[in-house]
Amino acid sequence: MELANRIQQVSPSMTLAISAKAKAMKSEGIDVCSFSAGEPDFDTPTHIKEAAKRALDEGKTRYGPAAGEPALREAIAHKLRTDNHLNYQADNVIVTNGGKHSLYGLMMTAINPGDEVIIPTPYWVSYPEMVKLAEGKPILIHTTPENGYKVTPEQLRAAITQKTKLFVLNSPSNPTGTVYTPQEIRALAAVIVETGIYVVSDEIYEKILYGDAQHLSIGAVSPEVFDRTIISNGFAKAYAMTGWRVGYLAGPKPLIKAMGVLQGQSTSNVCTFAQYGAIAALTSSQDCVEKMRLAFAERRTFICDRLNRIPGLSASRPDGAFYLYASIESLGLPSTDFCKTLLEEKHVAVIPGIAFGKEGTIRISYATDLATIEEGLNRLEAFVTARL
Ligand code: GLU
Repeated sequence: MELANRIQQVSPSMTLAISAKAKAMKSEGIDVCSFSAGEPDFDTPTHIKEAAKRALDEGKTRYGPAAGEPALREAIAHKLRTDNHLNYQADNVIVTNGGKHSLYGLMMTAINPGDEVIIPTPYWVSYPEMVKLAEGKPILIHTTPENGYKVTPEQLRAAITQKTKLFVLNSPSNPTGTVYTPQEIRALAAVIVETGIYVVSDEIYEKILYGDAQHLSIGAVSPEVFDRTIISNGFAKAYAMTGWRVGYLAGPKPLIKAMGVLQGQSTSNVCTFAQYGAIAALTSSQDCVEKMRLAFAERRTFICDRLNRIPGLSASRPDGAFYLYASIESLGLPSTDFCKTLLEEKHVAVIPGIAFGKEGTIRISYATDLATIEEGLNRLEAFVTARL
């Protein structure tokens, strides 16, 4: 059968492909150090699992509303009001099959053929592909390590045309770990209001911050920018719930209502009892989130210092998320060749920078234990020094 044009122009997700390859090698008995997926190595906290088990026992096994369980939508709206100072009600929120699906739903609901969506590079793998699936046009703004991989208000303004619909902001960032300061967020918000475009703020890593880094949700800057803001978030990273597939989108009511129509005709509701785990995540103590953050902080210091002692490699200290974004420029190898050979020869899995739109770099996820980080970096050093 001839495939639709729509799918033929989309690249497969390299983060998922390399993670799957590393897992398959492990199941064959190969000792792989995997730094591929952005997936916390912690188990989902017990009280969240218990809540989902209880929901199963109570018969929460049936279809629910396509936009999510009312109690979860309410808990998310409450979290957005109290944590992020965003004045949302339950009907400003839709529950989705993970953060990724919330962004896909947004693109399908808001983007018309030819609409432009501004995406800073390095970007998370799926942003441009989702825009293409919606027949929109990804417009890339290049950022550099010298400016901390941050888009300036001038760069944003210069990229906006008559066709611009949306700007994708991701802070803390996957893959660079960059966190915009509140002042920088305010400056971007001013451009959004002045030009009348919309911004989607992917805040999935908001809880994973280090040092003095602060998270300011762009929608909290002013009522004017709030009206032009859409928030994407989920439970995967902060609560170690990657496989549960519970995320959400919050924004203007007509948009959320339209996305409900899309979900009603495509996926229906997110797994009902998983949603009860998510309610427990939001309404119980947040100590588990802090405990995991502290573990990530320790790993961040270790991996960053260790990597910068490897001749030929360098990375700046990330302010958030759990990725180290390293330069491999001195080796002069395409990032895919680097990663393929590293996996084959040393059984170390990292993601090539080209997956994020930037050659000469790799992404190393340190959401894994210290012993693996130590062993993996020893192997990486041996691999790199043999090629210098
Ligand atoms: N967001 C994670 C990552 O970047 C999970 C994989 C994916 O969905 O792409 O590794």
